[in-house]
Amino acid sequence: MDADPRAELERWHAARAANFYDATPNLARSLRVRLGDEGLRAIEPGLRAFGEAVATVVEPSVRAAELRPPSLETADPLGRESQRIAFDPEYARAGRAVCASGIAAAPAFEQAALLYLLAHAGEAGHACPVVCTAGLIRALRRDGSPELQERFLPPLLEPDYDRCQRGAQFLTEVQGGSDVGANRVEAVPDGEVWRISGEKWFCSVADADQFLLTARARGAPAGTRGIGCFLVPRRLPDGTANGFRIRRLKDKLGTRALATGEIEFTGALGHAIGAPDDGFRIAAGVVLNTSRWLNALGSAGLMRRAYLEAASFSRFRTAFGHRIADYAPVRENLAVMRVEEQAALASTLELTALVDAIDAGTADREDRVWHRILVNANKFSTSLAATRCVHRGIEALGGNGTIEDFSPLPRLYRDAIVFESWEGTHNVLCEQVLRDLVRLDALELVLERVRRCLPAGDGDAAAVAEALDKLAPRLRRSLAGGSLHFRRQLDLLVRALQAGCLLADGEAAAAALHVRRHLVSGYDPEGDADYAELVDEVVGADLGSG
Ligand SMILES: Cc1cc2nc3c(=O)[nH]c(=O)nc-3n(C[C@H](O)[C@H](O)[C@H](O)COP(=O)(O)OP(=O)(O)OC[C@H]3O[C@@H](n4cnc5c(N)ncnc54)[C@H](O)[C@@H]3O)c2cc1C
Repeated sequence: MDADPRAELERWHAARAANFYDATPNLARSLRVRLGDEGLRAIEPGLRAFGEAVATVVEPSVRAAELRPPSLETADPLGRESQRIAFDPEYARAGRAVCASGIAAAPAFEQAALLYLLAHAGEAGHACPVVCTAGLIRALRRDGSPELQERFLPPLLEPDYDRCQRGAQFLTEVQGGSDVGANRVEAVPDGEVWRISGEKWFCSVADADQFLLTARARGAPAGTRGIGCFLVPRRLPDGTANGFRIRRLKDKLGTRALATGEIEFTGALGHAIGAPDDGFRIAAGVVLNTSRWLNALGSAGLMRRAYLEAASFSRFRTAFGHRIADYAPVRENLAVMRVEEQAALASTLELTALVDAIDAGTADREDRVWHRILVNANKFSTSLAATRCVHRGIEALGGNGTIEDFSPLPRLYRDAIVFESWEGTHNVLCEQVLRDLVRLDALELVLERVRRCLPAGDGDAAAVAEALDKLAPRLRRSLAGGSLHFRRQLDLLVRALQAGCLLADGEAAAAALHVRRHLVSGYDPEGDADYAELVDEVVGADLGSG
């Protein structure tokens, strides 16, 4: 036993990851499967540099920035009306490191890996701005006129934080976030441009330079058919504010370094992105789907960080004369965390391949349908898993796990809960998938795509195939009518996909534990003679021996 009771904690601190890319070898393995050696080599230096920047710059900065969250200054020192949002200087320090990685405009796989690494620091006040900017870039590239592209894209692509512009996306209104078709904010034509009026209720990145928002053109039909998608610059060309007032910033459970406001627009000048009656397709199909994909990478990244914290703590913490990592229930808890985080990353990289194909214009109709289903199903499943995983991490640290400055886990936990609801709540995403499966008659295609990810074989691969065979008629019953059981079924479908991807990536032990826990009906670890060995296979290498 150490003479100094803090010695083991000091050893733990000294051993914590200083580079999140190097600390996650399975990320490189999965990327290599999808990009090949050469593809990985091309992006690896950037990922490694960013893995270090997140650990050494973003993480400490976000902690400071959360202690002094953004505030709204409604008057300048001379008493003139102002809408300035003030941040702790550490916020910009983190932002410079994030922006310099080129994350907002990177190609899909690189963007995915960078976001995953960034989320090791939680939302960090910068993940949401990156995601909104990435969505706006895609919307402008796909649906913006050449004039809009020329004027608004270059500052979004700028990798210098002090010169770049950032995007925001405002859909939610007081009467509802899920039901975008109920939007009341109005757009009135004014020559070539539009005048936007009304109130948006959840406006993250309230400090952004370019707001993408949904609004209904005056006289347009009710529901989503009447929704337009508009770009509202923060400032007019002469530098004055563009017809909006931030009523207040919200005091939030999580993502506390991020400025989320309530904003009222009164005749703000807006530019239509695409046709004004095509806005819902752009806002949901391009912008929100980018956010939902990247949200899942955020969930996977913060799960990984929770695992790294919990596993390293367990190696150094002793209780009753033993390292806690040597207690079977601790190892089991860590093994479950590890498998959950690997599974979330696996299905999300499968989704990334579809995003990559869509961005490159090589996706066919079936790819697009599969993407539409998976992006919603995967966001729902991974964000729920993230909260559970961080919760397990807090358990591993005991009472210390609840202390704000002892580890990032309380912050990650709060952020994970926000990740669950923004970009679509669980029920709403599941309802969307159910509707799409019926409308697009896509169930057989989806089942075929999940099966396609599954390598041939006995054992775990066969167990996944059997689980899918049993799930298919249950899904058909839900499609025939009734959503009561669909959420559970959809989660199983994502689990089956994750198992297939883990097997295909050669992550045999993680796949085996995942299959047993989620896909083998009636599985009882007590009746499994190999269970303890399997747990050790999953976490043994990370925990070493006592
Ligand atoms: C920190 C934070 C930042 C945010 N930033 C932004 C932002 O920048 N821009 C933006 O546009 N929005 C933002 N949001 C809003 C977010 O997108 C909404 O909260 C979300 O879409 C849900 O909308 P709501 O809160 O109005 O919930 P509601 O739509 O009122 O839903 C309440 C509950 O009812 C359930 N429900 C609703 N419809 C159904 C149904 N048909 N079947 C079953 N259950 C249903 C939901 O699942 C949910 O559990 C932010 C939210 C948070 C927490």
